[in-house]
Amino acid sequence: MSKKMLAGFVKLPFQFKLEEVPVPQVRDDWALVKVDACGICGTDMHYANHLATEWQGFGHEVAGVVVEVGRGITSVREGDRVVLESGSYCGTCEQCRNGRSDLCNRGNNFWRNPTMGFAEYILAPKECLVPYDGISPEAACLTEPLGVAVDLVRVADIALGDEVLALGLGPIGLMALPLMRMRGAAHIYAVNRSGGRRAEAAKALGADTVISTRETPLHKIAFRKGGVDRALVSASVQAITEALPVMNYGGIVSFIGIEYGAGATISFDVNDFHFKKLQLRASHAAPALYFPMALGLLRDGHVDSQQVISHVMPLDKLPEAMQMVRDSRDEVLKVVIKP
Ligand SMILES: [Zn+2]
Ligand SMILES: [Zn+2]
Repeated sequence: MSKKMLAGFVKLPFQFKLEEVPVPQVRDDWALVKVDACGICGTDMHYANHLATEWQGFGHEVAGVVVEVGRGITSVREGDRVVLESGSYCGTCEQCRNGRSDLCNRGNNFWRNPTMGFAEYILAPKECLVPYDGISPEAACLTEPLGVAVDLVRVADIALGDEVLALGLGPIGLMALPLMRMRGAAHIYAVNRSGGRRAEAAKALGADTVISTRETPLHKIAFRKGGVDRALVSASVQAITEALPVMNYGGIVSFIGIEYGAGATISFDVNDFHFKKLQLRASHAAPALYFPMALGLLRDGHVDSQQVISHVMPLDKLPEAMQMVRDSRDEVLKVVIKP
């Protein structure tokens, strides 16, 4: 088969190109999926700014249709709509067999493919194929980042009646807002640096109080209980040092974030941390879990995809879309690419 497709590639420093390449060949235990929608994620920015030393394919928040299955695939067939786990678990290692597949890092994935989700087709291993229906492909491609938000909320272990702070209002922080309410938050403070469209979306997604730290620094906010019981940080690493001083006794901070260089190191007062019995917990949603749960949340409207997606753009505008995500942070939420 010598069919061609358009595919996007990334390379340092912040370079992109679109090329006609052969459609990947199906092999045993892998399926060929026609991409309907693929979201742009912070991780894509890291590849463009720090990681992609050679030209490589990218895009991992994929919704599509199975067009061909390799031998050994029985869970889906041609014509099924699927979302793709960005990394699965192996099912046979010690962690998996001890019931902690969330700690398995040996699962199959498509990250070593020459081309990935920003392309007309993607080859995906059978472990990563999750069927869906009842929502649009644009909404469905939020499944992967919504799974990340689910993890952030689970790690925070919110209790009934907690006062909860969301620090950072990118797509992950925004999608976490309705989940915090479902977990029992009594009051949700949504905070980012500069307000803008993200602050409006936060309000629409259920935040009780929306605050810009450019106008009111975190330590000056008049929290109803003096501070907060839980903080979910999806902002820069430095935001952890702002969150810790506003935590109530016994508070938990859950954090998702990646930083490179000097900004990756923080310092904080350990006595305050110790005597207030605080906890700082990492949420790193790999392997990608909770897809059926995330699909249900989208299908039932608990997470309103319309509030999270700010732009839908064609594949040939991928370089412009990446630039927009970098340069217009306040006005850009989730950008979805449609081949
Ligand atoms: Zn992502
Ligand atoms: Zn495993």
